[in-house]
Amino acid sequence: VRDRASEGQREARGHRRPEPRRRIIPAWASAIVAALMLVALPGCTAGPKVTTAPEAEQPRPAPSTTPERGSAGSPGGTSPGTLIDPSAPSPSPASSVACRLTTPLGWLNEGQRTERGVFVTPLGTVRAAMVFVDFPDARAEDNADPRDRLPQTYYDQLVPESVAWLEASSFGRLTLDVTASTAWLHLPRPSADYGIQRGLDFEQQEAYVQAVVTLAEPTVDFADVDLLYVVPSRNAAGIAFSPAYVNEHDTVRTSTGTLVSHGVTFGTDIPIWGHKVLVHETLHTFGLADLYQGGGTAPVADASTHGFVGKWDLMGDILGSAPELFTWEKWKLGWIDDDQVACAAEAGTTKATLAPVESGGETLAIVVPTGDHTAFVAENRQPNAHDAGACKGGVLVYRVDTSVDTLEGPVHVVNEHPFGSRSCSGLDAAPMDLDTPATPGTSVFTDEASGITLSLVASHDDQWDVVVRRDHASG
Ligand SMILES: [Zn+2]
Repeated sequence: VRDRASEGQREARGHRRPEPRRRIIPAWASAIVAALMLVALPGCTAGPKVTTAPEAEQPRPAPSTTPERGSAGSPGGTSPGTLIDPSAPSPSPASSVACRLTTPLGWLNEGQRTERGVFVTPLGTVRAAMVFVDFPDARAEDNADPRDRLPQTYYDQLVPESVAWLEASSFGRLTLDVTASTAWLHLPRPSADYGIQRGLDFEQQEAYVQAVVTLAEPTVDFADVDLLYVVPSRNAAGIAFSPAYVNEHDTVRTSTGTLVSHGVTFGTDIPIWGHKVLVHETLHTFGLADLYQGGGTAPVADASTHGFVGKWDLMGDILGSAPELFTWEKWKLGWIDDDQVACAAEAGTTKATLAPVESGGETLAIVVPTGDHTAFVAENRQPNAHDAGACKGGVLVYRVDTSVDTLEGPVHVVNEHPFGSRSCSGLDAAPMDLDTPATPGTSVFTDEASGITLSLVASHDDQWDVVVRRDHASG
């Protein structure tokens, strides 16, 4: 096994980032998509391929030297019984560190060493300020529905459920603390002038945020804020969608020099997505990639949009039936410990007992690396908690490739159960379960190219025993 820990350290220092670029994180619906939604197409769509702007002269921000907050540390114990094959290495944090994958990419990616100088560290308390803006052509007081004239309405729609969602998904390691304004800020230009439409470039979003910061700074203490949420009046038709805001060039500041580098500029698509648009976009500010299929510059909403991960993971489908994050992402975010990930990097047999993802149990995934940037991951998904709408539970297998960019398929769910019923088919039905006459052959996954076989051998209560056999060691 190669020394991936030192590779990860180099990555963390940013030396492997090829070209800092200014990009808009693609986001969500347009009026076109809203129309599609009305005819019951899947509830999420691809955004435009990121728009690049000429390279800025600003240097990259230095990696953060601030220690991560919260309880990211391992409790220190190993997990006897997780790996029961005597020839396999004993489970320890070091063994799972060998299953971390580095990435050749900068920006949003699925590598396990997020650049903490660029993205917000999602541990402990993350403080957000929410401000509400209207425009000369779209005054809040002119909204037809009286409720839409009140900031409280928007806060209630976006914040409480998102805070609870993140608290649960992070196993209590992240507390999103949102302080909302109570009055409208009146921006000086018509809403469409700010260019918050699909295809916008970073400079447009940067200028919009700067205008908001200038208006807000008398009432918001930005020194105490990690994220800025900008929410437009419902009638502001020119603010069409809700991209995340990540400014790695330190260009937006208050008049006294305080940086405002992360947040979300919401649009009038909030009613389409509900509170989970806040969760999805906030997760971009933590460094997570989009897992749906994007590309090009036009909105796309067709069968291919969710061809990578189906309705699993709200970075893949914001309105999906199983929106809980993949364990791989929870590991990347620091929401689980290294010793909650079993690592099958060595030749031979590795066995793990997988607890449901949302349980925060002893072992949540088994990672089977197949190269410097690729791995198969198996985890136990059950139709409860955030995944209550999932049509099927079992062991979900997916392939991670950290050399694949956001929107291009860094994660692919493997469909090991293509025998779905009409109500549960395609990738929704992907998890493996034990071999039965009704579901033959779904208990074994084989990747001949990498000499890997992953088998379910037993289930007890909500736990699954999984055995990985591999012909060759990874790396
Ligand atoms: Zn996104």
